[in-house]
Amino acid sequence: MTDPQTPTHEIRHFIAGEWTGTPTRERRNPARPDDLVAVIADGDAKTVDAAVRAAEEAQPAWAALPAPARGTVLLDAAEILRSRAERAARDLVREEGKTLAEARGEVRRAIDVLRFYGGEAWRLGGDHLPSSVPGTFVYTRREPLGVVAVITPWNFPIAIPAWKTAPALAAGNAVVLKPAELTPVSVKHLADCLTEAGLPAGVLNVVNGPGSEIGDDLTGDPRVAAVSFTGSVAVGRHIHSVVSARHARVQLEMGGKNPLVVLDDADPATAARIAAAGGFGLTGQACTASSRVITTPGVHDAFVAALLKEADRYRPGDGLAEGTVMGPVVSEPQLATDRRYLDLAAQEGGQVLCGGARPEGLYQAPAVVTGVHPEHTIAREEIFGPVIGVLTADDLDSAIDLANDVPFGLAAGIVTRDLGAAHRFAARVQAGVVKINRPTTGLDLNVPFGGVKDSSTNTYREQGSTALDFYTWTKSVYVGFED
Ligand code: NAD
Repeated sequence: MTDPQTPTHEIRHFIAGEWTGTPTRERRNPARPDDLVAVIADGDAKTVDAAVRAAEEAQPAWAALPAPARGTVLLDAAEILRSRAERAARDLVREEGKTLAEARGEVRRAIDVLRFYGGEAWRLGGDHLPSSVPGTFVYTRREPLGVVAVITPWNFPIAIPAWKTAPALAAGNAVVLKPAELTPVSVKHLADCLTEAGLPAGVLNVVNGPGSEIGDDLTGDPRVAAVSFTGSVAVGRHIHSVVSARHARVQLEMGGKNPLVVLDDADPATAARIAAAGGFGLTGQACTASSRVITTPGVHDAFVAALLKEADRYRPGDGLAEGTVMGPVVSEPQLATDRRYLDLAAQEGGQVLCGGARPEGLYQAPAVVTGVHPEHTIAREEIFGPVIGVLTADDLDSAIDLANDVPFGLAAGIVTRDLGAAHRFAARVQAGVVKINRPTTGLDLNVPFGGVKDSSTNTYREQGSTALDFYTWTKSVYVGFED
């Protein structure tokens, strides 16, 4: 039993190796309001200033370490996180709401990310190039940027901070990390593991609080060389204006309205399983969630019938309870958003076949809406809930046109047995990630990830070795070895 008045965690800011600040704001478990997960200290301009100063002071010595020594810290942090993975996963469920299986997978991902970039530090190399000048060659060095700000959303509270922070540190940068205000506990686990692994004080700093209050202090600080952000389009656009105005480097990964095309030759049950995993898994709170399914006419009815059966399986419940396949919505405002879009869907002429009634608590049952037209709001705007809108298209080409007919371009999928159709889709669809016969959600950590159009700045990719491009700049060194 947890005491509704006693928080499990006191979350402060982590600056120059010390946890500071007075926690006041509560975070309760979205599945159980009597479970007080944490009280959190909210920062201000002074907190941000101190964190950036600490990072600026610590960065040169960190960058001067041999890269393999930096990598070893990441590798050791991975082992420490592995040893407390179950605790971190349970805290993640309690602060964010996803199921224990999903949370275990996410913590596992953070461990693997730390390992991957621990290894990358060992091979952080450049190129060796011939020169046009006789007796000369050129090599390139990857130099760190300096102080990097990392700003993260709540829906992957440990994986996203890990996949931004680990490459930044591997490359020799110092980091000021601002986690989402709803989910700071997972970042505390990450910071603790890195600290226990020997990360020097000040190399990673964490500032908590609402981005609307402290965000500009961080992104506008001239000492911050680069900002990596994942979150909503509206906030991303604002950050872009602040950071690019001072000509600093910025990377934004934002929302999606991800299409899954189901062609006539697809097995309806398989297609429904793929759609449900992508649309209802993680409570639909994934940037790559399949929120639009576009079917061709021959499969529509059988697909919808199979999808309704799948929806029945995704009954929402407490993520920590045995057998729960879908957790609660993260917060009251997010639930209100889900409800508002479902009301709009009905008003605009869609048929809400399930998920229409509001259950008790912060729960949203999976919703399937048919009769959705391309101009309907739920076909165009990101909902970030377990809602799948079903549209129809005459054939593959019109399905591709529909898939592309939104401002977003993050993930896209197709279910078909026709290899030619699958590759035609992959070539023409406007999305950073294409999945053939797999859910639009779920990514490998060694594969470049990012969107196009409004989903991304589309300048640098995250994840894999490619992520290091954002966190480094290239210096070219000419070496004359013969007169
Ligand atoms: P959000 O944009 O509201 O917040 C994201 C982060 O930005 C939070 O830490 C927040 O405090 C901070 N922030 C808010 N205002 C700020 C400001 N003015 N300056 C600096 N920082 C500020 O997003 P959210 O609700 O936490 O997350 C959901 C969104 O994230 C969805 O749109 C989802 O699609 C997107 N997302 C994208 C990806 C991806 O890789 N493309 C992955 C996960 C989530």
